[in-house]
Amino acid sequence: MQLYSNSLTGYERLNTVPVTVGDLLLGGGAPIRVQTMTTFDTMDTIKTVEQSIRCIEAGSELIRITAPSKTEAENLLNIKNEIRKRGFTTPIVADIHFTPNAAEIAARIVEKVRVNPGNYADKKKFEFIEYSDQDYVEEIERIRDRFLPLIKICKEYGTAMRIGTNHGSLSDRIMSRYGDSPMGMVESAMEFLRIARSENYHQIVLSMKSSNPLVMVEAYRLLVKTMQDEFKLIYPLHIGVTEAGDGEDGRIKSAIGIGTLLEDGIGDTIRVSLTEDPEFEIPVCQDIVARYISKKKGSGILPVEKIPYSPFEYKRRKTRTVHNIGGTHPPVVVADFMHESHITRESLQRIGYEYDAITDKWKIGDAAADYLYTGDKIFDFDLPGTCNIICNYETWEKRGEKKSIAGEEKYFPLFFRDQLEKAHSWSPTMNFLSLNTNETISPELFSLLEKVPGLVLCLYSNNENPVLDTRRLMIELMNRNLDIPVILAIECSEITIDRQLIHFAVEAGALLVDGMTDGIWLINDPKKIMQSQVSGRTYLAANNNHQFLNNTAFSILQAARTRISKTEYISCPSCGRTLFDLQETTAKIRSVTSHLKGLKIAIMGCIVNGPGEMADADFGYVGSGPGKVTLYKGKEVMKRAVNSETAVDELINLLKENNEWIEPVASVEV
Ligand code: SF4
Repeated sequence: MQLYSNSLTGYERLNTVPVTVGDLLLGGGAPIRVQTMTTFDTMDTIKTVEQSIRCIEAGSELIRITAPSKTEAENLLNIKNEIRKRGFTTPIVADIHFTPNAAEIAARIVEKVRVNPGNYADKKKFEFIEYSDQDYVEEIERIRDRFLPLIKICKEYGTAMRIGTNHGSLSDRIMSRYGDSPMGMVESAMEFLRIARSENYHQIVLSMKSSNPLVMVEAYRLLVKTMQDEFKLIYPLHIGVTEAGDGEDGRIKSAIGIGTLLEDGIGDTIRVSLTEDPEFEIPVCQDIVARYISKKKGSGILPVEKIPYSPFEYKRRKTRTVHNIGGTHPPVVVADFMHESHITRESLQRIGYEYDAITDKWKIGDAAADYLYTGDKIFDFDLPGTCNIICNYETWEKRGEKKSIAGEEKYFPLFFRDQLEKAHSWSPTMNFLSLNTNETISPELFSLLEKVPGLVLCLYSNNENPVLDTRRLMIELMNRNLDIPVILAIECSEITIDRQLIHFAVEAGALLVDGMTDGIWLINDPKKIMQSQVSGRTYLAANNNHQFLNNTAFSILQAARTRISKTEYISCPSCGRTLFDLQETTAKIRSVTSHLKGLKIAIMGCIVNGPGEMADADFGYVGSGPGKVTLYKGKEVMKRAVNSETAVDELINLLKENNEWIEPVASVEV
C-alpha cells in the first residue's frame, strides 16, 4: 500500500474487510454500491415506502431512513414489512443522531444503523473545553458505556453499522482536542471503531463527509492510513460530499469529492447528497460508478516511491507567475474556440463577455473566461480587457504585429514540442506548450522548458487513466523543482451532459484537490452530445456548448475552492426531519442572493442537525419548527423563530445589517 491507496500510479480498488448488510455484500471487492436516503416523515409509512421503492427501482442498493426518536425507530418495522410485502429485499439503514435509544430499537429491526460519532454520546454547545489526558480517558470511557449496548444488539441481530463522521458536527470534545480538521474527523470515528473492535464487532462501514470536497478527500485518505497503521486492515468506506446542493453545482461538488477518491481505489459505496428528490441521486451515482466498472489500471505510468506533497493537507503547488497565470493567481479558464468557424462579439457572450454596441463597451461577468484558444483565427474587433488569445504558433508568427490596437499584448502562441525547439521567435511575455503526458521529461526537454521565457504547459493525457498519469507527471515536475505553471487540457467524449459534467469534475477536480493546477481548458465535441436533462434544464449542447463548458469550468474551480465566482449554497438533501420544502426554499433564496459572489449560505432542514452541519457557511437559514425559521450568522443565532413567509426577506435584512448585501448589478464595464 502507498500512503492511502493500493497504488498511486495504477487503478486498483483498496482491499477492505467484507461487511454484509442483509443480503448485500459491502467492501471486500464487491462492486461499488449506490444508495440514497428518503425525505418523507418516517411516521408517514406509505409515503416513505413508496419513495423507497422509487429509489430501489432507480437502482438504489440500500435505503436510509431517518429515526429521530424512539417513535420513528419503532415505525421502521412497519416500513420494512411493507417494503418486503411489496417484494423488495433491499437493506434498510436507520439514520441516527443524538438518540442512542432510537438506535437500539432500530438495530433490532433494520439491517444497518448509521450513528454520528459527533453527537451519539455528546451534545453540541459550540464550547471549547480544556481536557487533561486523564479527563480525556474518562470521556472515552463515558462514550464506551453509551455505545456498548448498541454494539451488543448489532452483534446479536447481525446488524451492520456505519460510523458516519460529519465535518460540521464534530463534538465539542473533538473540536477542543483536534480542531476543526481532517485529523479531528478521523479521531472522532476511530474512538468509536476502537470500542467496536475491542468487543470483536467488525460489521462496520465508515464515512468522513464534509461539504468541502478538499476536507473530505483529506479526511478519507487520512482515515485509510490511520486504519492501516493501527489495525493493518481497512473497513469499507461509504463516500459522499454532504450538503452538496442541487443542479450542476451539486453534481460537480459530489463528483470532485467522490471521484477523486474512487480514482485512488477508495470507496465501497457512494451517496450523492442533492437537494432534489432522492431517486434523482441514483443516476448521478451510477454515472460516477460507471467510470470504474471496467477501469484499466493504466499502462506506462512510472511507479513513484516518494511524493513531494502531502495528500492529507491542501497546498497549492508553487509555480512562477507568468502574466496572470500561476503564482498566487487563481486558476485561469481557457475557452476552446478552435472549431468555431467565425468568432463575433456575440460569440463571447457565451463565455461571460457582453458587448454593448451603443456605448462600445464590454461588460465582464464574474465567470468570464480568461483565455480563448482560437487555433488559426484572429479577431477583427478589439477584445475585452481581461480576455487574451492563445493561437497556433504559425498564426501568431504570421500576424507579425503582436500587440493589440491599444498596444497591449493580447495574442500568445501555442507551440507543439518540435515547434518550440525550432521556433524563430517567442513571445517575450508568455508562451504555451501543448505537452502530452507521455513525453519523457528528458534532459533535452528539461533544458528547453527552462530556456523559453514565460512558459506555460498545457498538459493533456491519452492514457486510459489520465488522472493518475497526469498526477505522475506533476510529481516529476515537482521533484525536478520545475515551477512552470500548468493548465490541464481535458477532453471529454461522453455523450450526455450529465456524464460530461462528471468527467470534467473528476478529471480536473482530482488534480485541483492536490493543488496541482493553474488553469483548466475543457474540450468536447458538441455534435456528439445527446440532449439531456440537468435538474430540469435542457441544454442544447450544439447551441450552448461554450456556455456549458465555461460554466462547468468555473463551477469546478468554485467547488474545489480555488476560484470563487458566485454565491455558494450549502443545502442539506432533506430527510424525515425536514421542516419546509427545501427545494423550493433553496430556489427562492438562490433567486435573490445569486449575485453575492463569495458568500456561503446554508439552507438546512432542521434545527437538530442543521446548525452543526452547515459547516463554514457565512449565514444559515435553518428550519426550527413548523412554519418557523432561525437565521444564523456563522454559528450564532441572529433571528429566532422567524415566520417562514417572511424569512427570505429577513435573511436579506440580516445581510444588509452585516454589510454583506449589495444590490444586484449585472457586471462590470470596461
Ligand atoms: S439538516 Fe437536513 S438532512 Fe440533516 S437531519 Fe436536518 S433535515 Fe435531515
